[in-house]
Amino acid sequence: MLYQLSYELAALSLYELGPSASTGLRRSIIPSMALASDQCICLRKIEYSETSQVLTLFSRGHGIVKVLAKGAHRRTKAGAGRFDGGIDVLDLGSAVFNDDVKVDLANLTEWKLIDGHLELRRTLRGLRLGLHAVELASLLVELRDPHPEIFDRLARTLPELATERVEEAMLAWELDLLHYSGYLPELFVCAACGNSPADQGRVFFSPRRGGVICHRCQAGETEKLALDARLLRLAQSILRLPRDNGRALRLPRLTRHQTDPLNRMLTAHVVNHLGRRLRTQECVESD
Ligand SMILES: [Zn+2]
Repeated sequence: MLYQLSYELAALSLYELGPSASTGLRRSIIPSMALASDQCICLRKIEYSETSQVLTLFSRGHGIVKVLAKGAHRRTKAGAGRFDGGIDVLDLGSAVFNDDVKVDLANLTEWKLIDGHLELRRTLRGLRLGLHAVELASLLVELRDPHPEIFDRLARTLPELATERVEEAMLAWELDLLHYSGYLPELFVCAACGNSPADQGRVFFSPRRGGVICHRCQAGETEKLALDARLLRLAQSILRLPRDNGRALRLPRLTRHQTDPLNRMLTAHVVNHLGRRLRTQECVESD
C-alpha cells in the first residue's frame, strides 16, 4: 500500500514536469533514492518553466551531473527562494542530489551558495574568461566521471580571474584542464616529424595534427596558426613548473600580448577536437 502510494506520487511529479523530463526521472525513482552531498560549480544553466532550472553541475567527487532545480525561482511568503533564488553559472555551492549514475537528469534537493564570485562578475575580462573556463570544463570532462583534481584547479582559478593575475591563471588552467582530461596538444616536438620546433623564430600549430609543427612540415598543412616560438617556449615552461596539489608554482606574470595567441591556439585545438565552435569562443578571440 505504501509502495503503491509513493509510486503514484512519483508518477504525479513526472506528469508535472512534462514528457521531456519524464524519461530520466522515471529511472531515478525505481532504483535507490540515495542522495549525494558534494561541492559543485555551476557550468551551465537553462531556465526551465517559470520556476525551475536545468543545471550542469561539476561536482568534486561525482563528476559532471545534470540536475533539475525544481522551484529554484519560486519564492516563499517570507521572500526566500528554495535555492537562494536561483543558481548562476560560476556559482560554487554545496549541493545534494540523486546519486544514481543511470539517471540522466537528477533532482537537486539542496543548494547552499559558498561563493557567487561577485568580484569576478564585476570585471569584464575576468568574467569572460570565467565563462570560457567553465565551458571548456563542461566539454572536456565526461558526465559522471569524477575528476577532483580538475575541480580543485577550477575552484582555485575562478577567484584568481578577478585579480591582476588573470592572464597567467587562465592560461595555466587551460593547460592543466587539457592535461588532466587527456586532450593536451603536442607542444614539445613537431607533431609531423618529431623534431624540436621551438629553435626557430616562428612555429606553426596544426589543429588537424593536434600539435605544433616545424617550419619544414608546415608547407604541407593548409590549416595552421603561426606562433612566435618564444610563446611556445612559455607554454612549455608553464607545463614544467613545480606543483603544489596540482597547481603550478611561480607562474610568471603575463600580458594579453602573450596570452591571446596561446588562447587562440588552444581554442582552435578544442574546436577541432569537438568539431564545432564554442559558445564562449569570442571571449578569447575578440579584444
Ligand atoms: Zn616537422
